[in-house]
Amino acid sequence: MKKKFTEQTGKFSYLLKRACKYCSAPIHDKAHGASEFCPKTWDENGKVRDCKTAYHRENDKPEREIQAEYNGRNKAIKSRIEFLVKKHGDQVPTELLDTYDIDLTECMRYQIDPSGILTSYFLSYIIVSNPFNNIHKISFHD
Ligand SMILES: [Zn+2]
Repeated sequence: MKKKFTEQTGKFSYLLKRACKYCSAPIHDKAHGASEFCPKTWDENGKVRDCKTAYHRENDKPEREIQAEYNGRNKAIKSRIEFLVKKHGDQVPTELLDTYDIDLTECMRYQIDPSGILTSYFLSYIIVSNPFNNIHKISFHD
């Protein structure tokens, strides 16, 4: 009985050399086989130390940044379209789209109807492109 007690409360061993993916602290050998993080613990102030959550929060960051970049690009295109319409009206040739650096492939979504008319959706604007005369009709949407 005494021996068993010692085993259960004895020092952890780290022969497997596992380490927390977040803070690199060693994970003891008796931890669950799939353990990749320190166990969730609370300090004397009740503050949680949770390496798993912290790790995933940090890995989410690039995705938020990508989203911010995407939003920024959409806003930039929107203001170029706005400017184009203000100066040249709502029906323009392809050359003007090029001049204003409005790339139809950068739309948020698009559809092509059977006749070949391309509708590209941008932030606040829809551009309907006629491939036969290369005229692009721009309309505002909410
Ligand atoms: Zn950790």
